[in-house]
Amino acid sequence: MKLSKKTIIMGFAALAILFCAAIRVQAVEKEEKFFGFIKGDDKQCKKEKIAYLTFDDGPSIYTEELLDVLNEYGISGIFFVLGAQFDYIPNADEILNRMVDEGHHIALHTMTHDKNTLYWSQNASANFVAEMLELRDEVATRTGQVTNLCRAPYGKKGHFNATHYRAVEDAGLHCIDWHVDSKDWAKKNADEIYSEVVCELKRFEDADEIVLLFHEYERTVEALPRVIEHLLDLGYTFKPYAPGKVFEGI
Ligand SMILES: [Zn+2]
Repeated sequence: MKLSKKTIIMGFAALAILFCAAIRVQAVEKEEKFFGFIKGDDKQCKKEKIAYLTFDDGPSIYTEELLDVLNEYGISGIFFVLGAQFDYIPNADEILNRMVDEGHHIALHTMTHDKNTLYWSQNASANFVAEMLELRDEVATRTGQVTNLCRAPYGKKGHFNATHYRAVEDAGLHCIDWHVDSKDWAKKNADEIYSEVVCELKRFEDADEIVLLFHEYERTVEALPRVIEHLLDLGYTFKPYAPGKVFEGI
């Protein structure tokens, strides 16, 4: 059989195409192997970063707005409530029950917030525990939620003595401070709160779990969405507080 020139050229062209395709498949396989390895490795090294948003001194006239923001992002917050606010805020019970219904955790922040009673008086540690337990009962009566999680007004550091630590432990309470203080109590506006949090977070780049402290101000409500967006950008996720969870080191 005599092959025409045209047939021979077409044959070579087809062979060349097949050859190139085979080389390409090999290259893609190599590429996938290479990048697959890096991706897999990356996955193994990537730590889960969790942020807990906590709010002190409520319920207040701003709690519901805070809840609206948290719910918009599907985030469960921890509210360290103050017993004195229960009679001061007319719809306190409604707010407390909304917290529970929407998956937030109500934690304890004493009845009075009074430094003298809680830290400086003769029976300070006993007063501290008594106020926390009274508040725990109040919260349980009003919402059905029972908790052992508490936060000392102004923080444990500089206020707790050895007796406080022992009394709290004996009562089965778990009192935590915070990693990042938004300093919203001292800042003039939402921009300043946001900047403070952004700056403070840089100190915790390697931490896999951070607790952030906020209070209930209008400027906090305003800053909160930006703070949350920033945490999301940094790769943090938000977890609901699991009763019994222990926060180490704070
Ligand atoms: Zn407080």
